Amino acid sequence: MKIAILGSTGSIGTQTLEVVRAYREDIEVVALAAGNNIELLETQVREFQPKLVAVASEERAAELRVMLSDMDVTVASGMEGLIAVATKEDAQMVVTAIVGMIGIQPTVAAIKAGKDIALANKETLVTAGHRIMPLAKEYGVAILPVDSEHSAIFQSLQGEGQNKISRILLTASGGPFRGKTREELTHVTVADALKHPNWSMGQKITIDSATLVNKGLEVMEAKWLFGVEYDNVEVVVQPQSVIHSMVEYEDGGVIAQLGTPDMKLPIQYALFYPNRHYLKGERLDFAKLGSITFEKPDMDTFEGLKLAYEVGRAGGSLPTVFNAANEYAVARFLKGEISFLEIYEMIKSCLAAHTKLENPTVEEILETQKWVDEYILSHYHV
Ligand code: NAD
Ligand code: MG
Repeated sequence: MKIAILGSTGSIGTQTLEVVRAYREDIEVVALAAGNNIELLETQVREFQPKLVAVASEERAAELRVMLSDMDVTVASGMEGLIAVATKEDAQMVVTAIVGMIGIQPTVAAIKAGKDIALANKETLVTAGHRIMPLAKEYGVAILPVDSEHSAIFQSLQGEGQNKISRILLTASGGPFRGKTREELTHVTVADALKHPNWSMGQKITIDSATLVNKGLEVMEAKWLFGVEYDNVEVVVQPQSVIHSMVEYEDGGVIAQLGTPDMKLPIQYALFYPNRHYLKGERLDFAKLGSITFEKPDMDTFEGLKLAYEVGRAGGSLPTVFNAANEYAVARFLKGEISFLEIYEMIKSCLAAHTKLENPTVEEILETQKWVDEYILSHYHV
């Protein structure tokens, strides 16, 4: 199979390439896109020999062209470059491992070009799910989840035919601040927030895991991927990250997917679906594990999850405002410009100021993102 990867130098991107490395005879990489890490991208091009690569800026593209002058590869840049990679003629599947709403347009382009999508970029479905899912249906392409919880749900749905889901039980580790009070959260640092107990991921999603915004985005992602209502998605805290999510059926039967936390499993499952292949790594040792514990999420302290349910239920452009404000706020938090709890404040202030659009088009979704950035810049002084 031939694949293109958007975000090849990131956490999901590099792990996707690890899977490819183990299965070189089955998967060929034909195009790669990354942001600014051209040193790593050069190494990837030399190893995987794609014919097309893209980087965020034309400046970096010019540098990379010099570095790769001995190779037969085209170097593109910007949104045009991302779309070229996403629609590369011979690619059959596009892995969307880019972070943030910048993934929307290339994902739409890939679907229209008939590519199956291995979707890691949850921000795309959160903001544009009402456009993406019908579009995928129209073009007959599959959207295969890479997010571990959604892969677990997808795995738990296999062989169930038309059987009705009564509840999706979306598991959450609770993040590095599980059990903390609001008072304790006032003083947490960027370094504290980046210490995820079980997963090593990109910075943005790691902060989102600490605020539980990530779990909120995942609730919305589940709604779109599996066509369920918000009342049927319940978050269960499972701090060991051994159960990756569960599906309860009408007879009360619950099917779950378990495993050691390793993103290569969901990545590989999406790439090879419906087949499973050997994956090197530790196996679960239940006796050693001793116990798996469960809690209710603390939505009063970690408002990100509560707000996500609210905006998800309200729909329209509100999930876009929630997501865009969070992207902006997390970037500021990572630079040390705002405190942890101010992430929630920024999201809430944007939601309060926004006039909801009922059924936004992709253009309106992107305009809403712009509005959020401008609103924060001009109205929210920190
Ligand atoms: P990351 O920050 O590690 O990597 C992001 C990638 O996108 C990098 O390759 C970066 O260069 C690229 N990128 C950023 N801006 C770009 C631009 N303007 N043009 C081109 N490329 C650009 O992020 P990640 O943790 O791998 O997450 C990627 C996506 O997958 C996110 O949507 C995240 O929510 C989702 N996800 C990640 C994990 C995980 O374990 N890391 C798990 C589930 C879901
Ligand atoms: Mg996840």
